Amino acid sequence: MAERIETDVVVVGAGLAGLGAAQALVAGGRDVVVVEARDRVGGRVVNRELEHGVVVEMGGQWIGPTQNRIQRLAADLGIDTFPTYNEGENLLRFGETQGRYKGTIPRINPFVLADIGQAQARFDNLARRVPLEAPWSASRAEQWDSQTFETWIQRNCRTSKGRDLLRLYSAAVFAAEPADYSLLHALFYTNSGGGVDRLAGVGDGAQQDRFVGGSQRVPLAMAAELGGRVRLAQPVRKVAIGAAGVTVLTDELEVAARAVIVAIPPTLAGRLAYEPALPSWRDQLTQAVPAGAVIKCNVVYETPFWREDGLTGQATGNEGPVKITFDNSPPSGARGVMLAFLEGAHARRASRMTPAERREAVLGSLTRYFGPPAATPLDFQELDWSAEEWTRGCYGAHFPTGVWTQYGPALREPVGPIHWAGTETATVWNGYMDGALQSGDRAAAEVLAALT
Ligand SMILES: Cc1cc2nc3c(=O)[nH]c(=O)nc-3n(C[C@H](O)[C@H](O)[C@H](O)COP(=O)(O)OP(=O)(O)OC[C@H]3O[C@@H](n4cnc5c(N)ncnc54)[C@H](O)[C@@H]3O)c2cc1C
Repeated sequence: MAERIETDVVVVGAGLAGLGAAQALVAGGRDVVVVEARDRVGGRVVNRELEHGVVVEMGGQWIGPTQNRIQRLAADLGIDTFPTYNEGENLLRFGETQGRYKGTIPRINPFVLADIGQAQARFDNLARRVPLEAPWSASRAEQWDSQTFETWIQRNCRTSKGRDLLRLYSAAVFAAEPADYSLLHALFYTNSGGGVDRLAGVGDGAQQDRFVGGSQRVPLAMAAELGGRVRLAQPVRKVAIGAAGVTVLTDELEVAARAVIVAIPPTLAGRLAYEPALPSWRDQLTQAVPAGAVIKCNVVYETPFWREDGLTGQATGNEGPVKITFDNSPPSGARGVMLAFLEGAHARRASRMTPAERREAVLGSLTRYFGPPAATPLDFQELDWSAEEWTRGCYGAHFPTGVWTQYGPALREPVGPIHWAGTETATVWNGYMDGALQSGDRAAAEVLAALT
């Protein structure tokens, strides 16, 4: 017999969006219950504690300028940040050729530099023309939504290295191949984060700062404030609309409320059962917006040996399987931690490997970038986000051709008492922790208005 709970609002998902929505609802004087599938809070934000007090983040971790919501929240919770290690030179590898450079402009052939420079300026300029509240209303929305980002890259970059650099932007920022999503989506997402340099950069960019003790401290502290309102290990199976409101069902709970905020990625929202069935426009949207693919690896060494060689630890390469790395060492300096991303097609391929094969592939890449010491780590931590039952891919969802223009308005539109949150519904910093918080605030405001 299921335990029955009555409340004003039920929130599905205790990621940053759901927890933020719950906090706003409580502040608005409403009773709230948050129902979470996992036995922990934080969703795509999760810490792993290793030996010697080293904490690594296996999900979202960095924050940067203009991410005002997450900055303010962390400050209110007393959680400090520290700068990402960024001293020295970066590595850029094309095939077998590797070069070093300082700052954001690589020392490469001037034709390639000019090519990527003009392409990025043109792309940023188009991105600024996409209205964040309604990408489908951009003046050239139909045209931009009927081609992929890859098509645009091929038409607008003259050199193969220039094209590869934009493909690396796609891997790093979208965790997907540029052929996977529309140009309109690429432009919207880029504008939502403030431009290519802001999204891809460390200093003055989205990778600028880290949280002392790991980013999961933020949702853990939010959940502590919400106390018994958060119910863990309760996967929601069904959302039923009735005359008096809505009932959310897990295997053990029946939560009756006047409204529900579904704060989970759109693909997973589409897998819940709804009674009555959702309207076609909403269901078709959730059928059409897949998540990107990322396997995040934190590789632990005795020391951050690359620093002695004058390197930041940031390496980028067109061949992979690891195309992007960062120095992820703890501020204590107790260990050297190298962060290696497998993204997009490489993550999809590596998902089929055994853990031993993946480790070998990742260490092979790291050794090519940083030399033989990279081959023998003390510890190797990985997380394949596509294999996570309650996430199924990241960093966020991407919109293939035709989706924004045909289904975009369904993204945030409530269905009766059902409201939608989650970073995929954000207008600023879509796909990021900050966007998750914005979406929670917006959905909570909708519900507070509806209930009065
Ligand atoms: C590897 C990786 C690196 C990233 N790097 C960064 C970064 O550096 N900076 C940044 O800002 N962002 C980053 N992100 C993105 C950021 O983590 C997300 O945008 C953000 O955490 C999303 O929050 P959310 O609340 O919208 O969704 P989620 O965190 O996905 O929360 C949804 C919650 O709902 C739960 N849930 C799912 N299904 C059900 C169900 N049926 N019933 C009940 N509960 C359910 C899930 O368990 C989860 O707790 C990264 C993400 C990943 C995975």
